Amino acid sequence: MLGNGLAKDLAADTARRSEDFHQRAGRRPCLATVLVGDDPASVTYVRMKQNRCRQAGIESRHVALPDTTSTEELVAALTALSEDPEVDGILLQHPVPAQIDERAAFEAIAAGKDVDGVTMHSFAAMAFGLPGYDSCTPGGIMRLLDHHGVDPAGRHAVVIGRSPILGKPVAMLLLARDATVTVCHSKTQDLPAIVRTADIVVAAVGRPEFVRGDWLKPGAVVVDAGYNEGNVGDVAFDEAMSRADLVTPVPGGVGPMTISVLLDQTVRAAFEHAGLG
Ligand code: NAP
Repeated sequence: MLGNGLAKDLAADTARRSEDFHQRAGRRPCLATVLVGDDPASVTYVRMKQNRCRQAGIESRHVALPDTTSTEELVAALTALSEDPEVDGILLQHPVPAQIDERAAFEAIAAGKDVDGVTMHSFAAMAFGLPGYDSCTPGGIMRLLDHHGVDPAGRHAVVIGRSPILGKPVAMLLLARDATVTVCHSKTQDLPAIVRTADIVVAAVGRPEFVRGDWLKPGAVVVDAGYNEGNVGDVAFDEAMSRADLVTPVPGGVGPMTISVLLDQTVRAAFEHAGLG
């Protein structure tokens, strides 16, 4: 279950819509990226997002803040971007330094500009199945399932992981699509037995090759959202392939979808702000 091709198709469609927006609005869609500190991985992620913006004809505006930034200073910067009519989407690169209240910072992002789907408003929209911006990785997972003709309705989906940006929102999106959803975490007892009952498994744990082939029901669909050092996922891929119908590889599965969804949602936000529908 590859994501590269779908992510490229989505990016090409985003670039077309971005150009259409440019023609009609007289400006380009704009994504503001905010980075606190200079963690090398975060610097790389932000640079990748800026490059992908450029390729899609999306303007990117970067706000770099020192790693001594307080919650109040970060909230002020995000509030200013939320009020800036030239900015369509806001991405706060996370994790943020420990002295910052990350939730307070996320909530300073205006709901209409939350193209990374990190605010409580966006989470509620995902939970209620209402229009809004998806968390990007979960949104990418749902598009991958749709693309491969996997309808979650009536199927048992087991999500391993309950983080606010991945496990919980993907569980809500699956529930909104009528799956029967079980969310597992570090306190779950006898995880392999629960996973064996799953038609769809989403691994979002952050532990290399954590999900083993003999945990899987024959014919299951396995989505590996994990990304660990050395390009290794959360699922033992070869073992899983021998039992499951579909397995997303790492790299080349869920990963490429995340930025594509971010850009797609940025262009959608631009059209909505400009009242161009
Ligand atoms: P996270 O915030 O660290 O959450 C990990 C989750 O896994 C937690 O809910 C934790 O449970 C659970 N967990 C840990 N050990 C477990 C165990 N032994 N059994 C069952 N559950 C266990 O991580 P995250 O941000 O959600 O990321 C998860 C993975 O996805 C990472 O590999 C990350 O790199 C990857 N990721 C990929 C993308 C992408 O674009 N492809 C985006 C985001 C994240 P507790 O809640 O009980 O602690």
